[in-house]
Amino acid sequence: MTLAGAIGAGTAAYAVQPEASHFVNGRYVEDTGGAVIDVVYPATGEVIARVHEATAAVIEEAIVSGRAAQAEWARLSGTERGRVLRRAADIMRERNRALSVLETWDTGKPLQETLVADATSGADALEYFGGLAGSLTGEHIPLPGGDWVYTVREPLGLCVGIGAWNYPTQIACWKGAPALACGNAMIFKPSEVTPLCALKVAEILVEAGAPAGLYNVIQGRGGVGGSLVSDPRVDKVSLTGSVSTGKKVYAAAAEGMKHVTMELGGKSPMLVFDDASVEDAVSGAILGNFYSSGQICSNGTRVFVQRGLKEAFLERLEERLQGVVMGDPMDEATNYGPMVSEAQLQIALSYVAKGVEEGARLVCGGARAEGPGCFLEPTVFADVTDEMTIAREEIFGPVMSVLDFDGEDEVVARANATEFGLSAGVYTSDLTRAHRVIGRLEAGSCFINSYNDAPVEVPFGGVKASGVGRENSKEAIGHYSQVKSVYVRMGATEAPF
Ligand code: NAD
Repeated sequence: MTLAGAIGAGTAAYAVQPEASHFVNGRYVEDTGGAVIDVVYPATGEVIARVHEATAAVIEEAIVSGRAAQAEWARLSGTERGRVLRRAADIMRERNRALSVLETWDTGKPLQETLVADATSGADALEYFGGLAGSLTGEHIPLPGGDWVYTVREPLGLCVGIGAWNYPTQIACWKGAPALACGNAMIFKPSEVTPLCALKVAEILVEAGAPAGLYNVIQGRGGVGGSLVSDPRVDKVSLTGSVSTGKKVYAAAAEGMKHVTMELGGKSPMLVFDDASVEDAVSGAILGNFYSSGQICSNGTRVFVQRGLKEAFLERLEERLQGVVMGDPMDEATNYGPMVSEAQLQIALSYVAKGVEEGARLVCGGARAEGPGCFLEPTVFADVTDEMTIAREEIFGPVMSVLDFDGEDEVVARANATEFGLSAGVYTSDLTRAHRVIGRLEAGSCFINSYNDAPVEVPFGGVKASGVGRENSKEAIGHYSQVKSVYVRMGATEAPF
């Protein structure tokens, strides 16, 4: 890895800079034969580091060392494995500030946010699955005649994790922690846009006692991800990314009959009934559209507001948006940062243009901030209708669409009229209605009078095109292990002849 630009000697980030492009077999590894990937700090546009894509030799070492470490790791008791994960969680918490600074360099998200949402949620996952590891047992099933069956929960083997760029530390841990708890090894390929943070997770796991090779991190674009997915020595693939990438990765994994977890995109609805608390609904809409500059898969980007509340909702939303502090992400007073890259900013701007062109009313924002960096003002469109592009396609940026509705049946049908099904939220003071409506919404992760909470104890994932499988919670165990059943006959074996 080459240091360049803003992360230089003397800056806070220098101390947390990973030492090389890859972390394989317990150490940092460089192979300058791989194509260069520039790491750009989105707040200034400066290149802060350069990593190299993994070459065939690096990929090979990751696979071979991963498989060897897995065999060793699976021989430990769950309690022993859990101890390593919990130690890693403690180290992450101790180094939260340094890791948060690195996350901010990698993604541009404000330090105010990364200090509470990234290494901390990664540590939560390591702690939670570390705690579960010792209790992953099978069942005893009694049968007639004294026969019985026992089941054994076994690891899958070598898992591959492929990450998106919005939560690089969290994604590395949400995939790694349950995989390791179940006795698997993991090779993690971060997004090429944010390659730095996962290296620190790998480094910390080794420091906590994980065998070399158990959690390898290698860099690369889609091609490197693709070669991992198609390698016959890989048993499972967990992707966080877009639906189009998900379809390709799922198909490639199917060739080898591999297990998959797919955490993909969304265009989630947030339903605000006219008996809702305006203040809470506006808070939910802000969290679900502008946190992390809107770059969150589960965001409630279609905000359906019942007609009676529309004006009050928009008025209060505009007032609350005055509280945005956009600027230097390293300044802890900043609560709104840049988008992750120029490319993502341009995609979001093209959607803003489509919104205006197709007749939506721009209530606020919509412009790139002056000066360097990839800043897009928080943008709100009102009078959005279902056919408009901004109401149908995932933007993955800070663009909120407010749509009007009259009745419950109508809004449920419109909310469900999408290929996606990641999240959904309902704001109402009528609890019966809240549960009735949530029960009818086609989404995996739902919220009542809240939005976007994702504690590790709760299953997270989508239905329809938004994904397959669940991350976090006890549900994740089923996606990183398989069950062997053993029939034990206590009497003679009978045969027809
Ligand atoms: P992306 O699909 O472009 O890339 C995701 C990852 O897949 C990257 O690491 C990329 O290098 C890799 N990749 C690309 N092509 C590949 C291939 N053919 N084989 C293997 N790997 C390949 O997504 P992105 O732009 O990084 O992230 C944004 C998307 O991720 C959005 O759609 C967002 O909704 C989604 N996302 C989902 C969740 C979730 O948990 N559901 C969380 C965050 C982001």
